Amino acid sequence: MPRARCSNELNAIHSTATRRDERPTPLATMDTDEYRKRGKEMVDYIADYLDTIRDRRVFPDVKPGYMRELVPEHAPEDPEPWENIFNDIERVVMPGVTHWQSPYMHAYFPALNSYPSLLGDMLADAINCLGFTWASSPACTELEIVVMDWLAKMLGLPEHFLHSYKDSPGGGVIQTTASEATFVCLLAARTEAIQRYQQEYPDLEDAEINSRLVAYCSDQAHSSVEKAGLIGLVKMRYIESDENLSMRGDKVVEAIQNDREKGLIPFFLCATLGTTGSCCFDNLRELGPICEQEELWMHVDAAYAGTAFICPEFRYLMDGIDYAHSLAFNPSKWMMVHFDCTAMWVRNSGSLHRTFNVDPIYLQHENSGLAIDYMHWQIGLSKRFRALKLWFVIRSFGVAGLQKHIREGVRMAQKFEVFVKSDPRFEVPTPRYLGMVVFRLKGENELTEKLLKKINSSGKLHCVPASLKGKYVIRFTVTSTYTTVEDLSRDWAIIRATASEVLSKTPAEEHKTRVFLKDTRKNPDFGTSLLLANSPMSPKIVNGSFAAIFDNNDVLFEFAKKLQQLKFDVKDSPGKAMRRRIKGMLMAGKQYSLDSRMDLVTTLVSSARPGENMPTMRENSVEMQDFQEQGVDTAVQTEGGYSPSRGRSRSVDDGIITPDLKALELDEAIAEAEGESSSPEGEVNHRSRTLNGNVHASICHKCGSAIAAQ
Ligand code: PLP
Repeated sequence: MPRARCSNELNAIHSTATRRDERPTPLATMDTDEYRKRGKEMVDYIADYLDTIRDRRVFPDVKPGYMRELVPEHAPEDPEPWENIFNDIERVVMPGVTHWQSPYMHAYFPALNSYPSLLGDMLADAINCLGFTWASSPACTELEIVVMDWLAKMLGLPEHFLHSYKDSPGGGVIQTTASEATFVCLLAARTEAIQRYQQEYPDLEDAEINSRLVAYCSDQAHSSVEKAGLIGLVKMRYIESDENLSMRGDKVVEAIQNDREKGLIPFFLCATLGTTGSCCFDNLRELGPICEQEELWMHVDAAYAGTAFICPEFRYLMDGIDYAHSLAFNPSKWMMVHFDCTAMWVRNSGSLHRTFNVDPIYLQHENSGLAIDYMHWQIGLSKRFRALKLWFVIRSFGVAGLQKHIREGVRMAQKFEVFVKSDPRFEVPTPRYLGMVVFRLKGENELTEKLLKKINSSGKLHCVPASLKGKYVIRFTVTSTYTTVEDLSRDWAIIRATASEVLSKTPAEEHKTRVFLKDTRKNPDFGTSLLLANSPMSPKIVNGSFAAIFDNNDVLFEFAKKLQQLKFDVKDSPGKAMRRRIKGMLMAGKQYSLDSRMDLVTTLVSSARPGENMPTMRENSVEMQDFQEQGVDTAVQTEGGYSPSRGRSRSVDDGIITPDLKALELDEAIAEAEGESSSPEGEVNHRSRTLNGNVHASICHKCGSAIAAQ
């Protein structure tokens, strides 16, 4: 029974209620009229941004954590006026943006947009339907079917990939990324292989068959293929590419035979059209018949190059595509349909259904079975209305307009290639295909590495490197629709002038002018670079989120293992930067990545001298305080403070003994990594040592792995 209240109390309650009513509700902060006004302002802002993008520095000059100083620690309690939010785009966001639409952006592969594409997503975002089944929004599914068929015809794909082709269960679907497409196809191939083997050997469990599955890709394949194998729990074999960086049939046959002899089950091959490192092409005409004969699913990853097949003159590069079970490319790269949008086709959608089919009653509809339900073609349930932007782009440019755009990109790359070849100091180590030129300074890798660092640190243009069969190269993609021949001439002039600087230095001068890591903190213009190839030169420590896959307590141990396997020949390196970085990671207690710091890895390895130890730090030591006060490096912020044991630390109980890094000191680990014991080639050298006083950790000095307790 409610308690009786006096009139004063009631008045107080009433006035509080009134005050609450007077406060604008979040919904009221932007009504339709204001949305119309602000929407137009935003469209103008976007148009101005793209129109004047040439004036912006392509690569930002900020450090990790820069944004924390610019925004409050907590979300606002009350609604903020739109002006404040809008003004923060330039104040907070833009200083940290790498401008991918800039004509001076030559890194990675293009990620182009266009006005029709932006308008398509504007509408899709407003509709915001989730097209998991046909019934959840029929137009979403139907338009996707239409545009995927249009696109297949535009590329000249075999008819069995068309939804409309009556004699085939094939068709296309839009996935989020090429990585996801590869993974989806690998999973579908896995389902097929398991079912096939279970018919032959009914006693075998799924898991037993899975453990024997083996997949193949080139040593030039994108790291997403490796990732697909990793999370699909199947072995991945990297086939050595030929001198043109192409995966060839003979090597694949050899690998398959070897694996069959070991009782393994080859089931999947991922061929690449347009490799990430150098835009080279695997030989589908050779690989296709092998896959057919050996019952391997052949997936074709044409993430970048796929767009080029809109032009008939480039289709020779996909000769043999009729053998493919699946194919994916990214309109979100070169086709001016902005991210995300990956077009993927399968010859038999039944394999996807068998892999992804779940049918809860709340997702069934009266047309189930009569229409496509895309939830069975992908990992997630929901899907965005991405077909709209694809439809808008295809219609706005027309096939002829898209062809013109592609040919223009290729023409620009040809121009740039001529520039490079006209200067005898440079070489183009692999043939140029499509819109990417790979080049380097003749001579030692170090020269090209220095050249790239200097170019990127200028902020005037942006490129990333790759490692091709031991050669460090600069990848130059002609990406932006805004790039003109004048822009290319300007870029080339900068590259040449920088090369002259690099080449004119004597080793002693070079040492003086080298960009040391400590200087990168002072120099706001310093940029970073990323290595993009699976090659012996870029092992996982620099080619993946090495650090991110281990708890911090394990980082150093795993780092030591990797380091053990590295062999570089770089001279005169200072050898402290990587150590600082690792130390910083341990101090910060966070998961950071060591990606892209090949320079630091070479530095550390080359400078390793017997007896030279990594500095050690103990909790509450002066050094530690120093770290906490100063921050440790550009890549490591210590805002989280020191977290000595946030990570998991495994113990003897886990069966495998690994060091407890709370006690493992850096110098011990590095000494371990530097291989103080010199074991003869081929001899397995297992050492054990005491860690933490009582735990014995044994590390194989040949392979670097931990050894199980005896
Ligand atoms: N495959 C190749 C050949 C690529 O070059 C890339 C990225 O550049 C990918 C896959 C990964 O693309 P996504 O970011 O769409 O997963």
